[in-house]
Amino acid sequence: MKMICINCPKGCELDVEKSSDGKVSVTGNACPRGEEYGKAELVNPTRMVTGLVRVAGMRKPLPVKTRTAIPKDKIDAVLFAMHQTTVQLPVKIGDVIIPGVAETGVDVVATANM
Ligand code: SF4
Repeated sequence: MKMICINCPKGCELDVEKSSDGKVSVTGNACPRGEEYGKAELVNPTRMVTGLVRVAGMRKPLPVKTRTAIPKDKIDAVLFAMHQTTVQLPVKIGDVIIPGVAETGVDVVATANM
C-alpha cells in the first residue's frame, strides 16, 4: 500500500506491505517516524479531529479538537457529537467540552478562551 507520511513537510512516499506472517515492512521513509506512521496507518489509522460547537446565546462558535488522535472510523461520530453540542460560557482553553466522545475514551477540548 502506498501512502504519504504526514508527519513533516517533506511528505515521504511510503510503501507499506504486510507479509503472510503478519509482519509489516515500510520503505521510502527518510526517518524512523515514517516507519512508525506507516505501520500505524495499516493496522489502526488515527486522526486528530477539529471542529466547532455552538455557544449558548452567541453566533460565534467555539473551536474544539480531540485531545489525542482517534480511530479514523470514528471521525463521523465525533463530528456528529460536536454538531449536537452547545456550551455555556465561560470556557477556557483545555476545558473538556465532550468527555469520552463517541465511545473513543478521548475528550473533546476547547482550543480558545471565550
Ligand atoms: S518519513 Fe520522516 S522525513 Fe519523511 S515525511 Fe515522515 S517524518 Fe518527514
